Amino acid sequence: MKKYKADLHVHTVLSPCADLDMSPDKIIQRALYHGLDIIAITDHNSTRQCSIIREMAKDTGLFVVNGCEVNSSEEVHALCLFEDDYSRNEFQKFLDKHLPAIPNHPSYFGYQVVVNEKNEIIDEVESYLGSALKVDLDTIEKKVHQLNGLFIPAHIDRPINSIFTQLGFIPPDLRLDAMQITSHASEKEVRRQYDLHEERSLIKCSDAHYPEDFGKTFTTFHIHELSFQELKWALLQKNGRKVSIDV
Ligand SMILES: [Zn+2]
Ligand SMILES: [Zn+2]
Repeated sequence: MKKYKADLHVHTVLSPCADLDMSPDKIIQRALYHGLDIIAITDHNSTRQCSIIREMAKDTGLFVVNGCEVNSSEEVHALCLFEDDYSRNEFQKFLDKHLPAIPNHPSYFGYQVVVNEKNEIIDEVESYLGSALKVDLDTIEKKVHQLNGLFIPAHIDRPINSIFTQLGFIPPDLRLDAMQITSHASEKEVRRQYDLHEERSLIKCSDAHYPEDFGKTFTTFHIHELSFQELKWALLQKNGRKVSIDV
């Protein structure tokens, strides 16, 4: 088994609240500089920046996972990760269908742009990506799993937009592949506070919106090789794979 450092919650220029410096080249450079092996691109309610970063990272050794951070109708944030472009694309159609058509005001909320490898703007999303989707958490979870993706409630120890602050509990029918804690949280403390047992994997992620927040926070994946299937096994603690939070 090998150890790989992963940060599965990273924002890019596409997120209205993220810095314009979170460009594909800077993200890849910084991930490599800090020795990360795996990152997931998780912009708010959109997967549109993923493919370019995956393509750019191809020969660098960095494994880039397609994803996004949804905001459900209950205002719960959750990471949704996908193996390939087909599932990412299908989920993007789902997002497009359920994102309210509220226009973004860049001067107030920030820009929502997709950029290419030369940092040229190739697309701008008109509807505000910070909105709550018109669909609930349960429906989103079912859609993610129908596409063989991973569904991970985000920053569960935060006082806002966490499954615990918004719902108060984990609905028994909701299938979670793991739960994410914030970069400053103590795993032990979060497990105690929310009564989360060892069979529930926790991952620590940066949730970086600015370059300086990105690179130092990670979760170790104990897996055989870099593949989506191996990540899934590790989160579900199957076939000897597992995750650990070492810092
Ligand atoms: Zn969030
Ligand atoms: Zn986030």
